[in-house]
Amino acid sequence: MRKQYCYNCQREHTIKEVKEFREYTIKGTKVSGEITILRCENCVEEIYNKENEINNDRILFDDYKRKNNLMTSEEIKTMRENYGLSQAVLAKLLGFGEKTITRYENGAIQDKTHDLLMRLATVETNFLQLWETNRNNFSSYENKKIKKAITLSDETITND
Ligand SMILES: [Zn+2]
Repeated sequence: MRKQYCYNCQREHTIKEVKEFREYTIKGTKVSGEITILRCENCVEEIYNKENEINNDRILFDDYKRKNNLMTSEEIKTMRENYGLSQAVLAKLLGFGEKTITRYENGAIQDKTHDLLMRLATVETNFLQLWETNRNNFSSYENKKIKKAITLSDETITND
């Protein structure tokens, strides 16, 4: 049993974690998903929880991204991890602000231009070109790391 302060009851109560199906409209797109909510067992009010909030946002915003042909947070993260890069290094490689990839992986909606760049970067030959254009902006340590990532994922190149 988990207890937490309920602002509605103004005292600590046992809280219950429940899954709820929700539908919202984000920028004109109907999105839905099963999200996790904490409720006070006494008054049944929703209790704010930052971690749940971030995860719930990601679920709903990923639905928005799917429905608008944008890469989902998960897809962006997978691409980055395939190259073994930190969020900051990938952001730098793509010419984004330092925190931009972090925000996208947390659910923030990317604009079309950023989306296209990230999509292109998922193809290793494009990634290589981005890196070559940009490599002067990286420290020798970062360049070593990127080079290693490319060498490691060589087998992912397909011949079609
Ligand atoms: Zn309560």
